[in-house]
Amino acid sequence: MRETSKPVVKKVAIIGGGIGGLATAIALRKQGIDAHVYEKARDLRPVGAGLSLNPNGLKALEAIDPSIVEQLKQAGSILKVIQLQKNSGDIIQKTKITMMEKYGQPLLSIRWSKLQEILAAALPPEIIHLNHRCVSFTQNYNSVTVEFEGKKTVEVDLVVGADGIKSAIRQKLIGDGEPRYLGRMSWRGLLKYSHELLNPNQVTTMIATPKTILLMDVGDGYIFWGATMLCVDDYGSGSAADVKSRLLKEFGECASPVPEIIEATDAEIIVERPILDREPLSSWSKGRVTLLGDAAHPMSPSIGQGASTAFEDGYELSEYLAKAPNLEAALALYDGSRIERTQMIQARSGLAGRRAYEHDSEKYLQETLRSNDEFEDWLYKYDPLAIASRTQ
Ligand SMILES: Cc1cc2nc3c(=O)[nH]c(=O)nc-3n(C[C@H](O)[C@H](O)[C@H](O)COP(=O)(O)OP(=O)(O)OC[C@H]3O[C@@H](n4cnc5c(N)ncnc54)[C@H](O)[C@@H]3O)c2cc1C
Repeated sequence: MRETSKPVVKKVAIIGGGIGGLATAIALRKQGIDAHVYEKARDLRPVGAGLSLNPNGLKALEAIDPSIVEQLKQAGSILKVIQLQKNSGDIIQKTKITMMEKYGQPLLSIRWSKLQEILAAALPPEIIHLNHRCVSFTQNYNSVTVEFEGKKTVEVDLVVGADGIKSAIRQKLIGDGEPRYLGRMSWRGLLKYSHELLNPNQVTTMIATPKTILLMDVGDGYIFWGATMLCVDDYGSGSAADVKSRLLKEFGECASPVPEIIEATDAEIIVERPILDREPLSSWSKGRVTLLGDAAHPMSPSIGQGASTAFEDGYELSEYLAKAPNLEAALALYDGSRIERTQMIQARSGLAGRRAYEHDSEKYLQETLRSNDEFEDWLYKYDPLAIASRTQ
C-alpha cells in the first residue's frame, strides 16, 4: 500500500477508558501515534465484575502486544469445561472446551478490574486523563476540537469514540437516540468463594427458563456470577439491599451453591443492568471521527463477544492508520472490514439471547454446545496477519 510506514495521523483522542479504549490506545501508540485516553470517571473503577475472552479477541490482543495476553493468562482462568445444569442441580451436559486445540487460543475468564489494570499498566499514566467527560466536538478539514465538561479543549487529528453503549460521540456523529431494551434484566457479582460444587477452570450455566444463572471461575479464587431474567420492563430495584433481596427472591430456589453465593455477595457491588443493544450502522466514520467497541456495535452479551470484538476494532484501526495512504482511506478500510463482521456477530448474539430464554432453551443450549458450526470457525479463526496483509 505505502512504501513508508508513517501513520496518517499524529495525535488521537480516544474518548472512553473502558477495555476497548485502553486496548486501542496501546495499539495506536505501538504504531508511533500519540494517542491519549479521556475518561469521564474519576478513577478506573472495576466494571462488570468478570468476563470471558474468546480466541478471536485474544489473537487481536496478541497482535497488539503478546505480553498482555501472557499476563491475562497468568491472572485469569483458562476454561476447560462448560456445564449445563437444571435449577434443581441435575447436570444436563458437561462439555470439554477445546478452543485452544482448535483455534490456537483458549477461552479465558478474568476479573474485569484485573483486565483493566493490565491494559492500563501498558500505557504511560500521563496519557490517561481521568475526570474528563467529553461533551462535544467540532471538526474541520484539518483537525477536530474536543470539548470536555469544565476542562480545556484539545485539538487532535482524529477522535475515536470508545465511550460505550450510551456514547456521546455516536450521538453527535449519528444521532440515533437511546439503545434498545431486549426484554431481559441482568445482575452481576464477584467474590472470593470456594464450594465443593465449584470446580476450577469451569463455567456452569443453570437454566430455570425464563431465567439463567452463570457461575464462572475467573482465577485467583474468585467466582463471577451473572443472573439474567426475562422482564417486560427495565425498571431498577432501588437500593443495593432491595436489589439483593429481589435476586434472592428470583434465584433463591436454584440449587446450591447459587443462593449461598448471592447471600455471600456484598450488596454494594452487585450490578443491576438492562440488556441493551442498537441497530447496526452502515457507517462508523465521518471526517476525522470514528467509533469503536460498544459505541459502534453494542450487542447482547449472549456469546461473550463485546470485549473481543472491541480488541479486533482497536488492532485493525491501528493497522489501517499506520499503513493506509491517507486518513480517508484508513477509515474506509476500517469501516469496510469491521462493519460487516460485527453485524454478523451482533445478529448471532441477538439470536442466542432470544433463544436462551424461550420454552425450549435447554435443547437449544445443548445443541449449541454439541455442534461446532461454521459460524464459530469463522469467528474464532480471526487472523490478524491477514488483516495486516490487506494493507501491504
Ligand atoms: C451482563 C453483561 C455481561 C457481559 N459479559 C461479557 C463477556 O463475558 N465477555 C465480553 O467480551 N463482553 C461481555 N460483555 C460486554 C462488554 O461489557 C462490552 O462489550 C465491553 O465493555 C465494551 O467495551 P468498550 O470499551 O467499548 O465500552 P465500555 O466498557 O462501556 O467503556 C466505555 C467507557 O467510556 C466512558 N465514557 C462514557 N461516556 C463518556 C464520555 N462522554 N466522556 C468520557 N468517557 C466516557 C465510560 O465511563 C467507560 O469507562 C457483557 C456485557 C453485559 C451487559
